Amino acid sequence: MSRTYISASLRRIVSDRAQNMCEYCLIPEMLVLASHQVDHVIAEKHGGETIEENLALSCSLCNQAKGSDIASIDPETGYTVRLYSPRKDIWKEHFCLDSKSGKIQPLSTVGRVTVRLLRMNRVASLLSRQLFARYSP
Ligand SMILES: [Zn+2]
Repeated sequence: MSRTYISASLRRIVSDRAQNMCEYCLIPEMLVLASHQVDHVIAEKHGGETIEENLALSCSLCNQAKGSDIASIDPETGYTVRLYSPRKDIWKEHFCLDSKSGKIQPLSTVGRVTVRLLRMNRVASLLSRQLFARYSP
C-alpha cells in the first residue's frame, strides 16, 4: 500500500503489463467495484522504489491485506518466508488456479504464506474468479 504519487503514465504501464488483472490473485479489474491499485512489491519503508521494476497491479483487497509486508510466518514450519513477487517470480510456479471453484492452491512455501496473508481465497474472490472463468472466452 502506498501514498506515493504515481503518474498516470506509470500507472498505465503497470496496468497494461498486468493486463488489468491483480498480479497476486488474478481478479480482473472489470469485475470489482474498487479500482485496482499500484502496489510497491517492496514497500518504500523497506527501501522499495517507485519504479516499474518494483510496482505491481493489485486489487484493493490484496493490497490492503499485504500492506507493507514482504514476508510472513509459514504456519506449517514456523519459518519466516518471503512473499510472492510479481516482478521476480513466475505465478504458476507458486500457485495453481482451480477455475471451477475459483480457489488458488499454493504450490510452494512462498505461495502458501502469500495465499494466507493476502487471504486470496476469501469468498468474494472465489466468486469473482468463478464468474470470470464462466464468461471469459
Ligand atoms: Zn488480488
